[in-house]
Amino acid sequence: MTIELTHWINGKHVKGTSGRFADVYNPATGEVEKKCPLASVEELNAAVEGAKAAQPAWAATNPQRRARVLMEFVRLLHRDMDKLAEALSREHGKTLPDAKGDVIRGLEVAEFCIGAPHLLKGEYTDGAGPGIDMYSMRQPLGVAAGITPFNFPAMIPMWKFCPAIAAGNAFILKPSERDPSVPLMLAELMQEAGLPDGILQVVNGDKEAVDAILDHEDIAAVGFVGSTPIAQYVYARGCAAGKRVQCFGGAKNHMVIMPDADLDQAVDALVGAGYGAAGERCMAISVAVPVGKETADRLIEKLAPRVEALKIAPYTAGDDVDFGPVVTAEAKRRILGLVDKGVEQGAKLVVDGRGFVMQGYENGFFVGACLFDNVTPDMDIYKEEIFGPVLSTVRVNSYEEALNLVMTNQYGNGTAIFTRDGDAARDYCARVNVGMVGVNVPIPVPLAYHTFGGWKKSAFGDLNQHGPDAFRFYTRTKTVTSRWPSGIKDGAEFSIPTMR
Ligand code: NAD
Repeated sequence: MTIELTHWINGKHVKGTSGRFADVYNPATGEVEKKCPLASVEELNAAVEGAKAAQPAWAATNPQRRARVLMEFVRLLHRDMDKLAEALSREHGKTLPDAKGDVIRGLEVAEFCIGAPHLLKGEYTDGAGPGIDMYSMRQPLGVAAGITPFNFPAMIPMWKFCPAIAAGNAFILKPSERDPSVPLMLAELMQEAGLPDGILQVVNGDKEAVDAILDHEDIAAVGFVGSTPIAQYVYARGCAAGKRVQCFGGAKNHMVIMPDADLDQAVDALVGAGYGAAGERCMAISVAVPVGKETADRLIEKLAPRVEALKIAPYTAGDDVDFGPVVTAEAKRRILGLVDKGVEQGAKLVVDGRGFVMQGYENGFFVGACLFDNVTPDMDIYKEEIFGPVLSTVRVNSYEEALNLVMTNQYGNGTAIFTRDGDAARDYCARVNVGMVGVNVPIPVPLAYHTFGGWKKSAFGDLNQHGPDAFRFYTRTKTVTSRWPSGIKDGAEFSIPTMR
C-alpha cells in the first residue's frame, strides 16, 4: 500500500487535485512507499491567497511574540527528534545520526531567529538636523517562497522559513518531491508551536509549481537551493518577474593537503567529508589535492584501506553505519556512469565500489565507495558534480598549483586546507575565491549566526543564507525623516534638503 501524501494549506493537510504524483522511495529497499502530489498552478495560487490573507496580522504581531513561536518550535523539534530522523532516513537514505544532524542544523537556525526582536531593530539618528530625527525600520516583504533540494529535507527548509516567518512574512515552501514527509511534519510542528494558519504553506510539486511561484505577482521573494542549472534558471526567471531572488547551486569542494599536514587527521577528514551521507552534501569534499608526490603517495596508501573498510548499510542497521544508499535508482545510474567514464578517461580507480550489493537489500540504491587517483582537470569526474560516494585525487606539485586549481574551478562553495603552517593557511584564506573555507576543518559549514553561501557558480544573488543576511533578505528598509514640532509652517523649501 503506498501512502498518498498531501499539501499543507491554511493549517490543514489538503489532498492534491492535479492528478499528478511523484513516487517517493525507501532508497534502502528500492520500494515506492509514498506518492507525493504535484501541485497545479491553481493549487499554488490557492496557497498564496491563504498566505496573503494571513500575513498582515502576523506582521502586526510584535516580534517578541513571533519569536516565542520559534522558541516552542525548538522544544518540539527536540521532543520529536527520533520520529523526524526516522522519517528522514527512510526517504533520504542517510544514517540516523546524520538525519539528526540534518534536523539540528535547522533547529540552530530556529534558535538564531529567536533573536528576531533584536535583529529587526532599526537604526535611529537623533537630531540629524535642526529638530530633525531620522530612523530606518526593517519591514517584512509579504509572501516569500522557498524551493529546496532533497539532500537536507529538514535543515534547508528551516534555513528558509524560520527567518522569513520571524521577520513577519508568510512563507510558501516547495520542498523536494523526493523526500517531502519531513517538511510536512515541520509545518505541523510550527502550527503546534502557535503559528497562525496560512503563515507556513507547504506546496508539494515539481517544475509546474516552481514556475507558478516564479510567475506569481504576490510572491515578493524566492530562496532556492539545488543544482546549478536550476539555480540559474530560477534566478533569471524570478529576477525577470521583479522578485528578490537568492539561489544556491552545486559544488565541487577541494581539500588541499600540504606536505606538513597531519596525514592521519587529513585521512579521517577525507573519509568523513567525502563519503558521509553517500557524498550527497553540497559541502562534501569531492576532490583531494595533495601537494607533492610524496604527500600524494602516502595519502593514497593510508586512504585506500580506510575507504575499503567503510560500512555501508540501511539506516536501520545501527548507529555505526558510515553511509547508506543514494536517493534514487537514477542517481545510482548517473554516479556509476561517471565512475565508468573516469576509468575510460584514464583515472586510476584505487577503490572500486561499482559492484557493491547490499545483502538482503538487492533492490536498494546502494553504491560502494570509490576512490580515484591521478585525476586531471579535463576529465568528466573532475568537471561534474558527482554527488555520490566518489572521491577524486588530483596531484599537484606546489601550493600555487593547488590554489590555481581551486581558483579556476567553476564552483566556489566550500574548500579546506590541511597544514600546520599558519602562513600557508592564512594566504589560502585570503586569496581563494570560495565562499566558505576550512583550516584543518573539512566541512566548514558556518554556524547559524554566521552566513552560508558560495561564490562563482555555487550561488546567484547577493545575500547569504541564515545569519544576519537572512533578515536582510526577508525584509526591506524604510527610512523616515521627521521634523517636530516646527515643520512646514516655517514656509516651503525649494532646494534639496541638506543637513548643514
Ligand atoms: P535539483 O536542482 O534537482 O532540485 C532542487 C529543487 O528544484 C527541487 O525542489 C526540485 O523540485 C526543483 N526542480 C528540479 N528540476 C526543476 C526544473 N526543471 N524547473 C524548476 N524546478 C526544478 O537539486 P537536488 O537534486 O534536489 O539537490 C542536489 C543539488 O543541490 C546538488 O547540486 C547540491 O550541490 C545542491 N545543494 C546546494 C546547496 C547550497 O547551499 N549551495 C545545499 C544543498 C544542496
